[in-house]
Amino acid sequence: MSWIKPPIKAEIGIIGGSGLYDPGLFREAKEYKMYTPYGLPSDSVIVGEFKGRIVAFIPRHGRGHKIPPHRINYRANIWALKTLGVERIIAVSAVGSLREDYKPGDFVCPDQYIDFTKRREYTFFEGPTVAHVSMADPFCPELRELVVKTARDLGIRIHDKGTYVCIEGPRFSTRAESRLFKEVFKADIIGMTLVPEINLAREAEICYVTIAMVTDYDVWAEKPVTAEEVVKVMQANVEKAKKLLYELIPRIPKERKCPCKESLREALV
Ligand SMILES: [Zn+2]
Repeated sequence: MSWIKPPIKAEIGIIGGSGLYDPGLFREAKEYKMYTPYGLPSDSVIVGEFKGRIVAFIPRHGRGHKIPPHRINYRANIWALKTLGVERIIAVSAVGSLREDYKPGDFVCPDQYIDFTKRREYTFFEGPTVAHVSMADPFCPELRELVVKTARDLGIRIHDKGTYVCIEGPRFSTRAESRLFKEVFKADIIGMTLVPEINLAREAEICYVTIAMVTDYDVWAEKPVTAEEVVKVMQANVEKAKKLLYELIPRIPKERKCPCKESLREALV
């Protein structure tokens, strides 16, 4: 696969989820409209400097939240970040909780996922080059450790493990589905956007970590919540996520010691 040379270079990518449309952290940010072989990314990519690091930001749903989870051009988003030179992606996502002790307002740094999506573009390798990347440990171990430690240093409640079940959406789960995910699959959190973003990052040999922000309990809990309550929790979560990003970015080592950078070595057929 060949990547086109970009006019600028970034090292860290942030993909913002629901509520996070502007990280508000850059000095002299520039916006780039990027064209990829897969079409346009969710929005222009904002590239700027933060504490000596060049960071690229894409709002996953576009600014103004216009793109539903099943219509996001995941391949264009990852391709755009890769062409900018990004080696690490920090993905921020709002999720529902499948456990009593993962409370609204808590953060989770998932270590596994279950894919329940149905009709998305999952790969860059459509032939003649065929690749089967390993997903045994889908998240970057180095970044996960750093996210958990940094959150705890800041006093943010974060769970250092969790299985994320990714559903197709845009609808929410039925009660029967929610109980299946919770009781049979033993999943911990539920969302609509992790897959195929994470698969594509691995194919592009980019490290990937998710900061999952719990918004509410999924329908298994049978606890009716008002939209107002959800919005309140979401706003507080986004503020915490920004604080976490400010502290996290300068702590990311320049050199990668994780296996993510060689994901394709034994994957190509
Ligand atoms: Zn890594």
